[in-house]
Amino acid sequence: MEVEIICVGTELLLGEVLDTNSQYLAKILANYGFDHYYRSIVGDNEERLYQVIDTAFVRGAKLVILTGGLGPTQDDVTKEVAARYFKFPLFEDRAERTKIQMKYQSLGNEHMIESVYKQALFPNNCMILPNDNGTAPGCLMTRGNQHILVLPGPPHELVHMVEMYVCPLFEQWQETKIYSHVYHCFGLGESNMEAAVADIHLANTPVTIAPYANVGTSRIRMSVKAKTMQEAQHWIEFIGKQIYDRIGKYIFGENDETLIDKMMENHKGKRYGLIDCTNEAQLFWQLQSSVLAQVFCEQLAGSLVSLSDQLQERTLAGVVMKISRHFDLDGVLVFETEKSEYQHHVYSCRFYDSLGNELWNQSFQSLTPYDQQCERTITMVSGLFWQAQ
Ligand code: ATP
Ligand code: MG
Repeated sequence: MEVEIICVGTELLLGEVLDTNSQYLAKILANYGFDHYYRSIVGDNEERLYQVIDTAFVRGAKLVILTGGLGPTQDDVTKEVAARYFKFPLFEDRAERTKIQMKYQSLGNEHMIESVYKQALFPNNCMILPNDNGTAPGCLMTRGNQHILVLPGPPHELVHMVEMYVCPLFEQWQETKIYSHVYHCFGLGESNMEAAVADIHLANTPVTIAPYANVGTSRIRMSVKAKTMQEAQHWIEFIGKQIYDRIGKYIFGENDETLIDKMMENHKGKRYGLIDCTNEAQLFWQLQSSVLAQVFCEQLAGSLVSLSDQLQERTLAGVVMKISRHFDLDGVLVFETEKSEYQHHVYSCRFYDSLGNELWNQSFQSLTPYDQQCERTITMVSGLFWQAQ
């Protein structure tokens, strides 16, 4: 089913209010697998609103969702225009009139202004949707196989109404749903990822794949339009296996998993020290701002030469061993600046066990100094640990 969203409100066009309603509604439509190709914003103007509704139906929509302009004031014209579009006359609904009166009186309005009862006008045979967080009810008007859903503008009114009264309707209308599955990668850029999976043949499948860049990582999302979870699972496994064949060695997790989760999973209960030889000496404090603080519990800053002097050890292995014994550590990470030029910084990470054996040695690059991008640095360090295991 094709669905269009039209947000009504001159304040949206003037840039005074950001349109968050259509973002919220778009996610709901995607969840239910409805086709959503266009959305519009129109001012509080009857003729222009009439025109956008017409455009939506002419280009194929079966459901047009209108938000905003449902209230009691003169410029609130949405419901009136929707009814006029379907050539439905409006009648006062007695029960709604009483509810509106009670709501206004409970808000301390003793003298009711007649215009508020405009909110109780509806076409015959429409489905009235209660507004539990405000005064103006919404409604669903249907003519043949065309529907207009009229919803309030204030987001807290809209969201509640959608969850309580609209989603159950969508469930009945739903033909297919969109299921997504994500693979997260480390060490593989977005473009390389795209090139690596380019030969996967998606024609004749209900699957689409899309690569994205994250902070220090990348991800690939498979989306499947399917009637049931089982059907979606079949396609996710079928295409997922092909993706794995191509980029599996870079995949560290799925869906909500993060590199930090992986790091904590693999190093839980360990105690590591950090020797930060950079001028900034910020890595320890960056790690302390994350859950990795549980693992990295001691730090020494300064050059390796000065540490060797202080500890009277001639080799780095000796320094690591002495520190490990003193602080009861399982390993030590040595972090150094390898190269730093304008817009090009390379950092080396070496990891030693408590006996001073180098277990791995890797580097990462960055356009901005590491101390200016905490989230990325923590991801990179976790990624290097994951890569080395
Ligand atoms: P009311 O009964 O409050 O008049 P209404 O249904 O007539 O509600 P509008 O008058 O169009 O809705 O909008 C009321 C307020 O709701 C706006 O000032 C704005 O703050 C918010 N709003 C309206 N549309 C949107 C939107 N698309 N996204 C986010 N907020 C919105
Ligand atoms: Mg209004």
